[in-house]
Amino acid sequence: MKKSKVLIIYTGGTIGMVQDVDSGSLKPFSFSSIAKQIPELKKFNCSIKAVSFKEPIDSSNMNPSHWVEMASVIEKNYAKYDGFVILHGSDTMAYSASALSFVFENLAKSIILTGSQLPVGEIRTDAKENLITAVEIAASKHKEKSIVPEVCIYFDYQLFRGNRAVKFSSTKFEAFQSFNFPILAEAGVNITYNTDDILKPPKKKLVVHKKFCNEIAIIHFFPGITSDYVSNILQNQRLKAVILKTFGAGNAPKIDWLAKEVKNAVKEGKIVFNVSQCERGEITQGKYETSKWLKDAGVIAGKDITTEAAITKLMYLMAGGYSNTKVKKLLMSNLRGEMSP
Ligand code: ASP
Repeated sequence: MKKSKVLIIYTGGTIGMVQDVDSGSLKPFSFSSIAKQIPELKKFNCSIKAVSFKEPIDSSNMNPSHWVEMASVIEKNYAKYDGFVILHGSDTMAYSASALSFVFENLAKSIILTGSQLPVGEIRTDAKENLITAVEIAASKHKEKSIVPEVCIYFDYQLFRGNRAVKFSSTKFEAFQSFNFPILAEAGVNITYNTDDILKPPKKKLVVHKKFCNEIAIIHFFPGITSDYVSNILQNQRLKAVILKTFGAGNAPKIDWLAKEVKNAVKEGKIVFNVSQCERGEITQGKYETSKWLKDAGVIAGKDITTEAAITKLMYLMAGGYSNTKVKKLLMSNLRGEMSP
């Protein structure tokens, strides 16, 4: 079997951070400092190359132009490498992973995002294990084909589908969870792959979509939400789509002014997408009176999608030049494994 080739893309994040002498705050540093701390990278039975963002960043500073930058590096090197590892801050890793899953249609290779909760230079760091296993997964092939042809997050011995993962802890090494979908692999003495749930290799050629539209907003419902707050968002002419973060199985207050606002927004051509505040479970519009009115108003149910995947799916679809009807149809469809069929 041919030796695998893996490209590491360093974007920043805690993994490569050092303490600023003056402020005491953590700030991103160079990839060479990571490579120095992890000499094991040289022992792999695969060839590893690395490229870095010119200015590595804290992932809270990520925006769609950074997703496009990562996507462009992968697109340019797609044929040359068997897999890709993106070193990324954990704060917005689930957004980037979701966004990249929509960028790459018919992906046949692994794109594994990882990072760490403690910088690589700290004694108890989780950086080494995360990076080393992420590289191993990105390099893994069966009959010359990637074992995991997906955009994933690897963290603390678990491999998640990227658009199903959420950051749920800022302190545990186990920073991510995938509440509505099984993990794709677990690393112990061996790496055990959950082949039943890993996407099958595509039959078609890779298509790369590098456009995002950020004219979207979120309304997070809470008891006592005011009509001023809601109408400021729903009546904003520059917004093309709005996510309603609803209670439980997709419920929102059944009040006349709210129903009128939502109906008008839909009539005006805004896409309104229902995503639950619950991490686990799914939207069932119509189960309660408090969600039936949303269905009647033309709101699209987000099933069991994460907020991160919902935002990036909307950004991707709204930039695609599709008709309103087509966007609604695609929103309800499972495009990259982001929601249950
Ligand atoms: N603030 C950091 C970042 O997301 C946190 C981390 O890397 O874990 O870049």
